[in-house]
Amino acid sequence: MNLSYWEIKSWLTNVDYTIVGSGIVGLNCALHLKLRYPKANVLILEKGILPQGASTKNAGFACFGSLSEIIDDLENHTEDEVLRLIEKRYNGLELLRETLGDKAIDYKKWGGFELFTEQDDDLYDKCLKHQEKINKLLHPFFKTDVFSWQSNNCVFNNIKSKISFNRFEGQIDTGKMMATLLQKVQIAGVRILNNCLVNSYSEDLDSVKIKTEHFEYSTSKLIITTNGFASELIGQSIKPARAQVLITKPIDELHIKGTFHLDRGYYYFRNIDNRILLGGGRHLDFKGEETTEFGETQMIQSKLEELLQTIILPNEIFEIDHRWSGIMGIGEQKKAIVKQLGNNLYCGVRLGGMGVAIGSLIGKELAHLIE
Ligand SMILES: Cc1cc2nc3c(=O)[nH]c(=O)nc-3n(C[C@H](O)[C@H](O)[C@H](O)COP(=O)(O)OP(=O)(O)OC[C@H]3O[C@@H](n4cnc5c(N)ncnc54)[C@H](O)[C@@H]3O)c2cc1C
Repeated sequence: MNLSYWEIKSWLTNVDYTIVGSGIVGLNCALHLKLRYPKANVLILEKGILPQGASTKNAGFACFGSLSEIIDDLENHTEDEVLRLIEKRYNGLELLRETLGDKAIDYKKWGGFELFTEQDDDLYDKCLKHQEKINKLLHPFFKTDVFSWQSNNCVFNNIKSKISFNRFEGQIDTGKMMATLLQKVQIAGVRILNNCLVNSYSEDLDSVKIKTEHFEYSTSKLIITTNGFASELIGQSIKPARAQVLITKPIDELHIKGTFHLDRGYYYFRNIDNRILLGGGRHLDFKGEETTEFGETQMIQSKLEELLQTIILPNEIFEIDHRWSGIMGIGEQKKAIVKQLGNNLYCGVRLGGMGVAIGSLIGKELAHLIE
């Protein structure tokens, strides 16, 4: 594209910080760079007309781990690592709420529930057995018991009589959160160019040359926050992981309120606007879902519908309104990568299924890593 003198001068000259990706991490990084360096010229390049990864696609759980997730994490990490991650997720949520305000993101502290199917005796017994130990582990941070048991009250079908309850869990309206964050970043003076795919870059001694699909220019620092798409631009161990979702049409007198985890978190659902939003099923086809292509598959979508019919809404007549997918970035370790990769090159990626919780904090951490 042959840009004008004005376009080059006003948009692409003297750029101090270029951020690739306008997800929750990129936007928070931009916000904190502006707080640190108010006069800096911060530019975000985003390939989608809207953010096009996970931040506008997710389920909006403001969560830091269900009972079975924490038990599972303890099998692969030390107690200290697990506790640090929970603290990070909780503090990240506090930062998100503080940055944008509960009203703007429609934060509701309705609690989180974990359901166990009648067939899943092993997991149910394990959770019954370990709840006290987990509450003790979390006590120094929360100063009270996090998990308790509630009765199913026959709301759900084929589910054990006891349901694990986490009173610290909440939910947000993902769309409101991202719209408010985008607005705040733009008010802070950050420029965002949408529909602008970054193809490649090359590092000079004190700058980085960027090649987008439309133009080339130089920036003092380049920050990659492309999460599930990161391996296309940086050599870090990040795999894409597609996650599929569906939402019902509004249901009269919907009796379900809160965020729900089922089958070790492989499925998750919540209420929103008198509807049920349900996602998951990636474990049915891990290999097929390891992709950066958006899309829905028959196998996973029919399983989600079956769960609605048989477990979640067994006595309701409902219709599916809409289906979509998002792309996450995952790896061997359940830990984000926040680091300097070159003289003027940085990244904040691999947020897994925790980005609503830790995204604000990772963005802030990244901004403070950069000189
Ligand atoms: C269906 C689903 C449900 C989820 N539910 C939850 C939940 O309930 N709670 C929770 O905590 N987390 C959840 N997550 C995870 C959470 O959404 C992510 O961890 C978080 O959004 C990651 O934010 P990010 O900024 O790192 O990445 P993203 O939001 O993916 O942003 C990366 C951006 O980079 C852009 N980009 C990529 N490559 C390029 C390029 N070459 N040039 C320009 N732009 C580029 C993309 O378009 C994208 O906008 C869920 C994720 C999905 C998909």
